[in-house]
Amino acid sequence: MLSESIKKHKTEYLLVSFVDLFGVIRSKLIPASKAKEAEKAGAGFAGFAAHLNLTPAHPDIFLMPDAKTFTPMAWQPNVAWITGDLYMDGELIDHAPRTVLKRAMAAAAKKRVTMMTGVEAEFFLLAPDGSRISDEYDQLSKPCYDQLALMRRFDFIKEVCDAMQGLGWEPYQNDHEDANGQYEMNWHYSSALETADRHVFFRFLTKSIAEKHGLRVSFMPKPFTSLTGNGCHTHCSLWDASGKKNLFLDKNNSHQLSEKAYQFIAGVLHHAPALSALTNPTVNSFKRLNAKTPDSGATWSPNGISYGGNNRTHMIRIPDAGRFELRLPDGAANPYLLQAGILTAGMDGIENKMDPGVPRHENMYDVFTKLKVKKLPATLYDALAALEKNHVFKTTLGDGFVDSYLKLKREDWSRYMSQVSEWERQSTLDC
Ligand code: ADP
Ligand code: MG
Ligand code: MG
Ligand code: MG
Ligand code: MG
Repeated sequence: MLSESIKKHKTEYLLVSFVDLFGVIRSKLIPASKAKEAEKAGAGFAGFAAHLNLTPAHPDIFLMPDAKTFTPMAWQPNVAWITGDLYMDGELIDHAPRTVLKRAMAAAAKKRVTMMTGVEAEFFLLAPDGSRISDEYDQLSKPCYDQLALMRRFDFIKEVCDAMQGLGWEPYQNDHEDANGQYEMNWHYSSALETADRHVFFRFLTKSIAEKHGLRVSFMPKPFTSLTGNGCHTHCSLWDASGKKNLFLDKNNSHQLSEKAYQFIAGVLHHAPALSALTNPTVNSFKRLNAKTPDSGATWSPNGISYGGNNRTHMIRIPDAGRFELRLPDGAANPYLLQAGILTAGMDGIENKMDPGVPRHENMYDVFTKLKVKKLPATLYDALAALEKNHVFKTTLGDGFVDSYLKLKREDWSRYMSQVSEWERQSTLDC
């Protein structure tokens, strides 16, 4: 199958790629003449050189390409990107992100269900040095849907959207988002694994095409103090084993969501503190959550653990029949761990027939309302503590994964704490 794809697309090079625990994309560029060897033996890497819980003394790791992920690169048509699963000593690496998602999906498959998801990976278009937005005319105080700013970036947007169309992803809309310099491009939902693989490639695609146009894409959760941050809202539905019946759809129930959907939502609400360690994985992530109102008038991000109907101020929104939207994740979320976390939390809700209570209708950005609901973790440190205490994530995603993730993320937190910031100096120098 791989050799057929190579022939069909006249591929000269294969970019054999994986994502580490921090979401960094790593790869080797392999001439197509050696693709057969790479398919059989994998592409080798030194594991310690990536963010995986491995030492320099560990044996090499091997990425075994999954032919189904073969993705020709529209902006570099003689090269095709491919991803797959990581092995060491002939065994799957248990804490590799794609393996962790497959584990969560296998647990759901045992219950004869499969999750379909779509992500909204918001991003900024910046000047190449990353210090400011790229379009100096993009200045509206309410910049969402700004037609002029959208069309000033038409060349970039078209190239990315055309690439997605060529790949059969069915992109259906592109817009300017709620921060100056911020955009969103939407494509059709798929299975959790396919969406995760596409999400990885989308990040690569947008960054590469932006560089070609002298721009820089950033998915950083909160790059500018006074502007809305980059969310990565995730829409979910649960289907039966045949993939034909949406088990979240019940036309006769409230918001046209089934009882199973409400149980799944209850699981996501229940596990939200631990889940946020995966959906909001950086120090900066928690500056998007619980944020002060930015210039546009609303953060559009959750400030508490709540759900509502078609109301964008809650952590979970029900936009349409048969699906819900989780507004918690941000642009730094690892595409695989994001899906694995949501699925695990939701399935536990079904398993234990959890009840989410009634949906809230208030505006959560009203300070007094905010006080009525459970809080999200205030920092990455708190989110990691919640993950450590969560037995469901440990059991389903694996102790090996949770331990590795906590170790690496806590090292990251320590690096942050070892830095003295300008704000600290300004506010403490004359204490
Ligand atoms: P929003 O109104 O939140 O801005 P978007 O249109 O930007 O919504 O994104 C909606 C996402 O939800 C898309 O990725 C879309 O494919 C996905 N989606 C639509 N229906 C379903 C469904 N039944 N299950 C999972 N995802 C879905
Ligand atoms: Mg070497
Ligand atoms: Mg959207
Ligand atoms: Mg958006
Ligand atoms: Mg949304």
